[in-house]
Amino acid sequence: MSCLFCRIAAGEIPSSIVYKDDRVVAFNDINPQAPMHVLVVPVRHISTLNDLSTEDDALMGEIVRRGAAIAGERGYGEGGYRTVLNCNADAGQTVFHIHLHVLGGRSFAWPPG
Ligand code: AMP
Ligand code: ZN
Repeated sequence: MSCLFCRIAAGEIPSSIVYKDDRVVAFNDINPQAPMHVLVVPVRHISTLNDLSTEDDALMGEIVRRGAAIAGERGYGEGGYRTVLNCNADAGQTVFHIHLHVLGGRSFAWPPG
């Protein structure tokens, strides 16, 4: 198993886990871009958004709702937070295991860079 986030989900590589269940793991980004920068990932390997099928709809819903729950627990629900799913090179995806970025604690520009 060579995928970095598969190894983090399996506990083979240390990370700062903030949530874990059978299907979803969330951990702090190693290079945070905001006071809160959490990555929410499926335990099962899925490389990019392009690889999703209808069977993954519930899983992706869990990932998004988990990100919202973590932001809410940190007190960012009302003021707001940024969620990002990068897909492939032009979006800057560097780890090819789907991950939802959940960032909070500062204001974010739009459009993104
Ligand atoms: P992306 O550019 O959307 O593929 O995001 C990959 C993210 O993974 C970046 O924000 C990295 O800082 C983060 N990252 C890389 N390695 C690790 C790691 N070992 N633990 C936590 N986050 C990581
Ligand atoms: Zn993986």
